[in-house]
Amino acid sequence: MTIRKILTEPDPFLRQKSKPVEKVDDSIRKIMDDMLETMYQAPGIGLAAIQIGIPKRIIVLDISKDPEKKEPMYFVNPEKVFTSEDQATYEEGCLSVPGQFAEIDRPDKCHIKYLNYNGDFKELKAEGLLATCIQHEIDHLEGILFIDYLSKLKRSMITKKLSKQKKELERIVV
Ligand code: ZN
Repeated sequence: MTIRKILTEPDPFLRQKSKPVEKVDDSIRKIMDDMLETMYQAPGIGLAAIQIGIPKRIIVLDISKDPEKKEPMYFVNPEKVFTSEDQATYEEGCLSVPGQFAEIDRPDKCHIKYLNYNGDFKELKAEGLLATCIQHEIDHLEGILFIDYLSKLKRSMITKKLSKQKKELERIVV
């Protein structure tokens, strides 16, 4: 397993729409293994392939809070088939928007269909935190970030701050 570099806003790559996976084979499983390792190391509870520069419809999640009991979940080509009218609010962050958090409303429940690690067809009824995480990650596959739900002003403040941080990080004197 390899820890990959996580792309951060405002990287234009994050705005790409990811393509469906044609077949879940060993090369796809290798990507999922790397994604999980990268997510744990970050640390985060969810990651989409586009965040490590791979525009494929793959998501990994682990919302178990106990580091001793890992519960990785893998979703290939996830599709929402139902979202509830009831909304839930969580304070969201994102590994691609480092250090920034905001309260976001999303449907409290969602049902999805997807392929698992072995390429088997599955369905899942999610609610609460899991539903929010899945929707956040599916947004990544469409090139959407959680800051897109904020006002234009708030969003541009965050983007400016992150661009400045990036420049400072790249500045070296040798
Ligand atoms: Zn994210």
